Amino acid sequence: MQTDFLIIGSGIAGLTYALKVARQFPDKQILIITKAQADETNTKYAQGGVAGVMDAENDSFDKHIEDTLIAGDGLCNPRVVEIVVKEGVDRIRELIQWGAQFDKEKDGDYKLGKEGGHSEFRILHHKDVTGKEMERTLLEELNEFPNITVIKHWFVVDLITQHHLGCLVTKATPDIECYGVYVLNRETRQIETVLAKITLLATGGNGQVYRSTTNPVIATGDGLAMVYRAKGRIENMEFIQFHPTALYQPGVTGPSFLITEAVRGDGGILRNKDGEAFMERYDERRDLAPRDIVARAIDSEMKRTGTEHVYLDVRHIPVANFIEHFPNIYEKCLSIGIDVSKHLIPVAPAAHYSCGGIKTNEWGRTSIRSLYACGECASTGLHGANRLASNSLLEAMVFAHRCAMDAALYVNEIQVKSSIPDWNAEGTIQPKEMILITQSFKELQSVMSDYVGIVRTNTRLHRALKRLDLLWEETESLYQQTALSPQLCELRNMITVGYLIVKGAAFRKESRGLHFNTDYPGKSSLIQNIVL
Ligand SMILES: Cc1cc2nc3c(=O)[nH]c(=O)nc-3n(C[C@H](O)[C@H](O)[C@H](O)COP(=O)(O)OP(=O)(O)OC[C@H]3O[C@@H](n4cnc5c(N)ncnc54)[C@H](O)[C@@H]3O)c2cc1C
Repeated sequence: MQTDFLIIGSGIAGLTYALKVARQFPDKQILIITKAQADETNTKYAQGGVAGVMDAENDSFDKHIEDTLIAGDGLCNPRVVEIVVKEGVDRIRELIQWGAQFDKEKDGDYKLGKEGGHSEFRILHHKDVTGKEMERTLLEELNEFPNITVIKHWFVVDLITQHHLGCLVTKATPDIECYGVYVLNRETRQIETVLAKITLLATGGNGQVYRSTTNPVIATGDGLAMVYRAKGRIENMEFIQFHPTALYQPGVTGPSFLITEAVRGDGGILRNKDGEAFMERYDERRDLAPRDIVARAIDSEMKRTGTEHVYLDVRHIPVANFIEHFPNIYEKCLSIGIDVSKHLIPVAPAAHYSCGGIKTNEWGRTSIRSLYACGECASTGLHGANRLASNSLLEAMVFAHRCAMDAALYVNEIQVKSSIPDWNAEGTIQPKEMILITQSFKELQSVMSDYVGIVRTNTRLHRALKRLDLLWEETESLYQQTALSPQLCELRNMITVGYLIVKGAAFRKESRGLHFNTDYPGKSSLIQNIVL
């Protein structure tokens, strides 16, 4: 199979890019491959909204830029921050033109929210289901373009490069090229070869590496692991954002339900088990301090008081207002017996967002030729050591646009590569015991949560690396002997992602942004990105 533009992932990044190239090149073929249902993405679960300077009277680009730089704690690329903040407004307006409905005041102005780290009200939202609305808009807009094809339930296994033509490819190889991907067709269980002139990775985040995460099950860092295997550059993987307030539900497996930061923006107060509003002891911005500070404060309160959660108190917010802004959260709480007007909501931190990822330049190019990356899987330089809330949907749209603009400049010069060998599955057998995969998956999550969570130490990182080595060895042996399954591929990818997080954390001899190591509590004077 071959195409002009190949896109892996159907979240905001992949879909925005698809629409851009489809509009520009009605005569070219665009293929989107996704491993689940088209809308089963991190994007769909975004609650809080998308940040943008929509109120020029009270807000400004400079303020949004400054807030982003402060959150990034010295590691943002200022040029990229300026690009995203300034171009982001046009991308939001485009999305509105395509039909996205953001909440409005009675006078017709957009109802703008405020979240931790933002100095002004600038978060556009659609109640508390903003991502769902954005995903819906993009998928509907896709129908306008007959040159876009979406294939669901195909699992992309690996990027095809010179390595598959028998060449030795190392990190030092100057011109690694991407010719397309090998994909597992889940229905036939065959591995297909899909060749393309240009490939975009929009594979999203990797929260599933942790036991407790707000990310859906698709978030297994596949794109990152593929690029690492193909000898591309990955950076700043140690910066994992833990959302401070996921709903605490002991015994419930699967993604944790998020209580958006916007609830604190509307006046929600964190309390410990004694009812104390403890945030004032940690930061003068109290409940609206940036996420890393709030997550660490909660972690510290939980450890100090010996509890597995703290509480979010919204009892003082008029219930009608709460229901209007957060209908989904209200319903969810009610469904488990919590009436937010009377009861405290139990919350605990959960892995939420990966700030680092596949290293890209200002146009979304990776270190591998003909391969772009954007959205959560990419590290553009916007977030630095910590993401400012609601900047990620914005970044995905801005960089999807930029990738499309750049790819358009040279797509006509590229020929689809011929003579790529088929995937070789000789000598492998169907897996007999899924327990070998599921148990390793649980072990990985435990290692990462217990040793590489919100607070890290050298000893814990060292232990984590040793445990990951063992898991890696066992999984590689399984991989060599068994026919591929999505579960095995995901496990392998997640072990790689875990390894990259631990390596990044071990290399960083300081505490900065989201990375906190008690053996190096201060910031180093050497400001650097860790590239692996
Ligand atoms: C609960 C929650 C709330 C959030 N709230 C906000 C918010 O309010 N504001 C904000 O800015 N950000 C928010 N975020 C973050 C934001 O939603 C994500 O960063 C963003 O949606 C990522 O978009 P994406 O297109 O990069 O990836 P995704 O939307 O995750 O899409 C990834 C796609 O890649 C596909 N894929 C992955 N691997 C493979 C493979 N091997 N083969 C084939 N397909 C593959 C998946 O199936 C999926 O289609 C939130 C995230 C979560 C989880």
